Amino acid sequence: MVGMVDWRLFEPLFNWARKKSLWIVAFCTGCGGIEMPPLMTARYDIERFGMLSDPSPRQYDLFLITGYVTPKTLKRIIITYELSPDPKYVLAHGSCPINGGVYWDSYNTVKHLDKYIPVDVFIAGCMPRPEAVMDGIYKLMDMIESGEADGWRRYKENYEWYKKNQDELLGEGWREKEARKWIPWLVDKTREVKK
Ligand code: SF4
Repeated sequence: MVGMVDWRLFEPLFNWARKKSLWIVAFCTGCGGIEMPPLMTARYDIERFGMLSDPSPRQYDLFLITGYVTPKTLKRIIITYELSPDPKYVLAHGSCPINGGVYWDSYNTVKHLDKYIPVDVFIAGCMPRPEAVMDGIYKLMDMIESGEADGWRRYKENYEWYKKNQDELLGEGWREKEARKWIPWLVDKTREVKK
């Protein structure tokens, strides 16, 4: 009988639980990382909303991009994002991830983060205060409950488009080069198996 349950009926309940138990991957970029301690500690205390910081991509479901992103950091962001289970949400704060911000003409800053990974909520400002970040979190929670926070699904559906943008910026074969840096024995083993 258990196999006949249509779990989609429980989706509103799951979404309610997801919004009340967001775990943030401990990964900060740019200047906005400094807004995290006041958010996590007594002043704003986001733990009261069930939010925790987690060091592993295996459990998190909220990725905060806290400022400017360089191509080198973008590689880590994409890999971390892809490693984590669905559903997952991205909240980017600061003008830099939106359009480059004060680094708009820098050769080494990613201008439109949402060309490379899907962003559910952007918070403008340089840098946004913790109140603005809280506001963005409330907005994201509402979107999760209503099912609108679907960036993770868009990433799968439009994967070729994201991959094309990633390859244009980071160069073809960048994933393999990164993998070779960190786990050369695994890359070599995969090659052997393919042969
Ligand atoms: S928006 Fe401002 S505070 Fe945020 S990363 Fe860019 S320069 Fe730094």
